Amino acid sequence: MLTPITGRSVIVTGASKGIGKGIAKIFCQNGGKVLVVSRNLTEAEACAAELRRNGGTARGYAADVTSIRDMQMLADTAASAHGGIDILCANAGIFPQAKIEDLSAEDWDHVMATNLKGTFLAIKACLPHLKKSDQGRVVLTSSITGPITGFPGWSHYGATKAGQLGFMRTACIELAKYGITINAILPGNILTGGLMALGPEYERSTAASIPLKKLGTVEDIGFAALFLASKEAAYITGQTIVVDGGQTLPESVDALAQA
Ligand code: NAP
Repeated sequence: MLTPITGRSVIVTGASKGIGKGIAKIFCQNGGKVLVVSRNLTEAEACAAELRRNGGTARGYAADVTSIRDMQMLADTAASAHGGIDILCANAGIFPQAKIEDLSAEDWDHVMATNLKGTFLAIKACLPHLKKSDQGRVVLTSSITGPITGFPGWSHYGATKAGQLGFMRTACIELAKYGITINAILPGNILTGGLMALGPEYERSTAASIPLKKLGTVEDIGFAALFLASKEAAYITGQTIVVDGGQTLPESVDALAQA
């Protein structure tokens, strides 16, 4: 059993819905004081209100991870509202699909700014506060797409998700002297509103390609994040955990069919 994170100050970016909301829920259930961040204040506050109704300690906050000013104000707000920052879950991300022939330079920059630069900016802004924590933790939401797999239309997205891991491997060395760990979760296909918007056929064919024959839940990612943020994970840094139901393992369609 993990030591509860009672009273720990947690920031989850991109937490108004999807995986971030699942992470916020699991951290609230385990005693964290969670700042729920998204650009849309109404949605962030609605999520925080739902978490409070279920017994958690949570507040909504509007900020754009592409803005260093927003990230600095976010860090200061979390520190004054919750007495510091112990855990940063850099989760906000977007995944618009466009094949290379149709992908514009602007679309490329937007995805880079949100997923990759946004990760850096959130960490940079929170670092002065994380340094003061006796158990500083950074948990990144990367993806199997990019670090392990590819999917047509997601070259730019995959580049950001692989880029997060390249960033992490130097960050873990720089942050170690402050006792801060940084690790990444690589989700497979997780059932979120964004993924459902890709349509039932995407969901059906994806489930068929997964050894566990189902998509993951946002709570599956929340539990992995909770472990990486726990006291018990103190000696793990610069590492990745794949949470994908075994999706990346079959060598071929036949490998699944023969099981
Ligand atoms: P989602 O349901 O679309 O939620 C995205 C969240 O990020 C929302 O709260 C959104 O709120 C916020 N957001 C987007 N741009 C932002 C910005 N510039 N600044 C602050 N917040 C921003 O997405 P998801 O599927 O949960 O994905 C979350 C993370 O998991 C992403 O990093 C994604 O790459 C990763 N992931 C997802 C899957 C999957 O199967 N769903 C698989 C692998 C990895 P606002 O729009 O109001 O800002």
